[in-house]
Amino acid sequence: MIAYVLGIVAVVLATASLSLTVVITRRIGSRDPVAVPRMWRRILRIQPLASAAGSFQTPRDGHEKIAFIANPTKSGVEELREQALRACSIRYLPQPLWFYTTADDPGTGQARAALEAGADVVVAVGGDGTVRAVAQTMADSDKPMGIIPMGTGNLFARNLDLPLGDTQAILRTVLEGAERRADVGWMDVHRGHNGHGEDERHLFLVIAGAGFDAEMVAGADDNLKKRLGWFAYFFAAIRHLGEKRMKAWVSVDGGDEIVGHMRTVLMANIGKLPGGIQLIPDATMDDGKIDIATIDARGGLVGWTELFGQVMAQGAGLKDTRLIRVLKTSRIDHVRGTEFDIRMEQPQKVQVDGESLGKATGIHAFVQPAALTLRVPQGSVPERTDDTEQPEATAPAPEPAEDPQPA
Ligand SMILES: [Mg+2]
Repeated sequence: MIAYVLGIVAVVLATASLSLTVVITRRIGSRDPVAVPRMWRRILRIQPLASAAGSFQTPRDGHEKIAFIANPTKSGVEELREQALRACSIRYLPQPLWFYTTADDPGTGQARAALEAGADVVVAVGGDGTVRAVAQTMADSDKPMGIIPMGTGNLFARNLDLPLGDTQAILRTVLEGAERRADVGWMDVHRGHNGHGEDERHLFLVIAGAGFDAEMVAGADDNLKKRLGWFAYFFAAIRHLGEKRMKAWVSVDGGDEIVGHMRTVLMANIGKLPGGIQLIPDATMDDGKIDIATIDARGGLVGWTELFGQVMAQGAGLKDTRLIRVLKTSRIDHVRGTEFDIRMEQPQKVQVDGESLGKATGIHAFVQPAALTLRVPQGSVPERTDDTEQPEATAPAPEPAEDPQPA
């Protein structure tokens, strides 16, 4: 009889403590899902916090409200979300907002919604496309932007010396980093003749271009990019080596147009590419200027090889690459300015930060100095150099007198 009563008491106690545990765990999970172990979250069906807009759940004075804008197609985003929520919670920051980008809106609208919801810092989680889209909104705000790079090239993140691959260090940078003001470039794309086709404005943070480089970007296979990373661009480049050069008219800061044949025209806010390749070595995002380079290679493989040598020499710090242009089949001409107009004889593919924008017949590009505030690692903020002298500029690729080996 006693055993029977004790048994009932034990069952009642067990049930009561289990339901108490469930209630408490649910209560904790509703405020900080990451604090509950994954298995328990699954059993108790605790959902991650709603990603939609709205106000912050626990606003506290003096604590920054963080909004993350993530590209859900990148692998590892869910794990990162947990780490990000945890990083905020251990710093006693308010529960952050979490937005996902969509195919229709890669981050611009979400960033606007985050600012409207009162975010103090907006963090782009994704590749250069997400960073660009979020920056497009942040460039017009005085709020800082953070970057958690998860793309193929992560061009902009590399140029900021973000600790790529170290999630904890990246989160520390985003939440506690120093602030650095950076120039942004804008490019108006003219699609058609006689008023046909819309003009559009696109932001770029690294390099925009027309011609060969844009063909390369557009031709890089998505599957190959997933497997090989930025090497995929080299394979795409090889397919376009034999194409005709383009004829273009280039005008810098409202000056006279200079006509030339070239492979590509690049406009750089900053110039470091993956693998340490410096396409435009002098470009910095702290000088209120855009560096433009017209790049030409003639004579088939010979010209391309010489050009490759020139790019490598530039990357190694050689300023005057005329020395190694033995065969004169390639040339890179640099000029710096704040505003550029480029007209192209034939419609050419254009790209911004590695994203293809399709074909255009004209480009107007300009710099917006110090428009973007970025969270960067402590101790990595350089002085701004807006007042620096113009470098010794060469004219953009004037037509050579004779063309012994036309491509
Ligand atoms: Mg610059």
